Amino acid sequence: MGYKTEKETAIFAVIQAAKLCQQVCQEIPPALAKQDKSPVTVADFGSQAIICKALKEVFPDTSIVGEEDAQELRQDINQDTVAKITHYVQNIIPNATSNDILDWIDYGNGTITNRFWTLDPIDGTKGFLRQDQYAIALALIEDGEVKLGILGCPALSLNDGEKGLIFVAVKGEGSYKMTLTGKNATKLQVVSNDDISRLRFVEGVEANHGNQEKQNAIAKAVGITSDSIRVDSQAKYGIVAAGEAALYLRLPSPKYPDYRENIWDHAAGSIVVEEAGGKVTDMTGKPLEFATANKMNDNRGVVVSNGLIHDLVIKALNN
Ligand code: AMP
Ligand code: MG
Repeated sequence: MGYKTEKETAIFAVIQAAKLCQQVCQEIPPALAKQDKSPVTVADFGSQAIICKALKEVFPDTSIVGEEDAQELRQDINQDTVAKITHYVQNIIPNATSNDILDWIDYGNGTITNRFWTLDPIDGTKGFLRQDQYAIALALIEDGEVKLGILGCPALSLNDGEKGLIFVAVKGEGSYKMTLTGKNATKLQVVSNDDISRLRFVEGVEANHGNQEKQNAIAKAVGITSDSIRVDSQAKYGIVAAGEAALYLRLPSPKYPDYRENIWDHAAGSIVVEEAGGKVTDMTGKPLEFATANKMNDNRGVVVSNGLIHDLVIKALNN
């Protein structure tokens, strides 16, 4: 079994971070969250601190390319925010000091090398604020390829089970879902397209992160007749991997034609789907590029499918 220690460490780290995120989430009244975004910042930073600490202890030489850094937190004006982050992190790691935590967050300031982690401590921040879906997303990239991906989805439930899931995939070893405590691992398989009219597709909730009109038109064009399932974060990848949707479309928003996707928004999700038998490309059919920059500069849009309908979708997109 390859990547055993990496996988165990990543699962341990994501479970701890999920606990922190759930605690913060419970303590934000939804109305307040809409006006004041700082509680989200608290969870983002706390999650990054916890995960980076766990990874660096076991893999001191592997750099971490994370979404957040502690530069602004080190300014005096943000002392209150640092105190809040420290409070939540200490619930998980009792002897952590504020200075430790700022340093742990900055471990995630690493650069792309031949072997690195990429981390989104809370993917789908807007979903988290709505007390809806979000994901803790962590991937290991080696020799230009995603080797391990893990998604912690504390608020997600699939048709067959309880709330709170982790998705894990190791290159060549399949894709699994488990409970938020790391138990009951079940192998995942994307849906087969025996009857395309019964297949479903998934897209983002935030209209400005995609092009919902075109996404729905393309789904229809390939024969999907039911309405989309709208979900925040990389939980969408988990839903495709588990066979509850055959397609996830993320087409460039007409409002932001120059937007480029971040590697941490797709690396973990992509291996979870591919190891379950699915396919992930950009809208032109090109593989996603995770190992050259923090942004996927040469990719446009993202198409995630059960594999069987992939060519059909790419053809419909390029007609
Ligand atoms: P989702 O929950 O699928 O809408 O994805 C959340 C992610 O969308 C965030 O992590 C952001 O990095 C990313 N995002 C922000 N603006 C855009 C945009 N204009 N187009 C695509 N993705 C975006
Ligand atoms: Mg994100």
